[in-house]
Amino acid sequence: MTPSAPLGLLAELTHRCPLACPYCSNPLALVDRNDELDTETWVRVFHEAAEMGVLQVHLSGGEPAARRDLTDLVAAAHDSGLYTNLITSAIGLDPQRLARLKAAGLDHVQLSIQDLDAASADRIAGYRGAHDRKLAFARAVTGLDLAFTLNAVVHRANIARVADFAELALTLGAGRVEIAHTQYYGWALRNRAALMPTRDQVTAAMETVERIRPLYANRLAIDLVTPDYYARRPKACMGGWARRTLNVTPAGRVLPCHAAETIPGLEFWSVRDHALADIWAMSPAFNAFRGTDWMQEPCRSCARRDLDFGGCRCQALAIAGDAAAIDPACELSPHHATLLAYAEQDSTPADFAYFHRGRAAPAPA
Ligand code: SF4
Ligand code: SF4
Repeated sequence: MTPSAPLGLLAELTHRCPLACPYCSNPLALVDRNDELDTETWVRVFHEAAEMGVLQVHLSGGEPAARRDLTDLVAAAHDSGLYTNLITSAIGLDPQRLARLKAAGLDHVQLSIQDLDAASADRIAGYRGAHDRKLAFARAVTGLDLAFTLNAVVHRANIARVADFAELALTLGAGRVEIAHTQYYGWALRNRAALMPTRDQVTAAMETVERIRPLYANRLAIDLVTPDYYARRPKACMGGWARRTLNVTPAGRVLPCHAAETIPGLEFWSVRDHALADIWAMSPAFNAFRGTDWMQEPCRSCARRDLDFGGCRCQALAIAGDAAAIDPACELSPHHATLLAYAEQDSTPADFAYFHRGRAAPAPA
């Protein structure tokens, strides 16, 4: 059966980034600049994506501004008919460059922010002065009348301020704020003991989001990426494996999710060798966990299997040691107690230091 077309493409243009966030979703082994896809290949990928029926491209990284050809890439995506969303830390984007991106067809900006006060935010980002530059960048975004989302990844150091993140987003002129609980893969898994909030902190944050949402109705949309470690049921990770989105790495490998390379034995195809549509329909990695035939019990006979698709394959591997197992975030998993034990253990207040992700200076704008 031919799978229906994906809706979104995450284009990881580079892994280079001036920041060093301890929860970064990039893999531990970062792609070297010399291995990045060239402009021409990305342009082809955007055309192929649009022809497949993809509606949106998320231009991400690392920091996409580290690519000197970012304006050309935005123009190519726009000219292909894709809605273009730039996911950025703001570093490397001055107002003039941002204006050129808008002229090239940029539709939307998603800016990450680490905390409310500069000292804490810069400590988390591992980059002095980042916070103030982000605030200035936000003003440039709204000055150009670009659609704007503020993204805050929350963890033990900032989770108490979810309401403040929403207020800051409104003040900065964003139409949406995304409160994203840290997902523990890659760098975040390595930093779990420095990031994990307590159960009480998570409960309070969730209640706060529910309480303030109506207060911001018609002024600010509040999206929530829920936490896994204190959950009773998993999320439908990526909306289901190979159902809605695909992710192209800086080197051209195409993944069903950004952490999929942590699963050994999966065969990922590259846009250097295959058309995007063929990768989506036929590549072994995309078909490994597509649908429900691969499921083990209890997911195989569960009424929720078409709702959450058994949760996250990468988390199943990380905790249960088997990517085809039920996600341990589900309380029906035999490994659920292990997940909770990790959460209790790692949320215990203690001295900690962030293990910042690898650094690589961005190319000048
Ligand atoms: S280090 Fe931070 S800003 Fe850079 S890519 Fe990772 S999460 Fe994004
Ligand atoms: S048993 Fe599987 S399908 Fe059912 S709720 Fe748990 S993870 Fe989801």
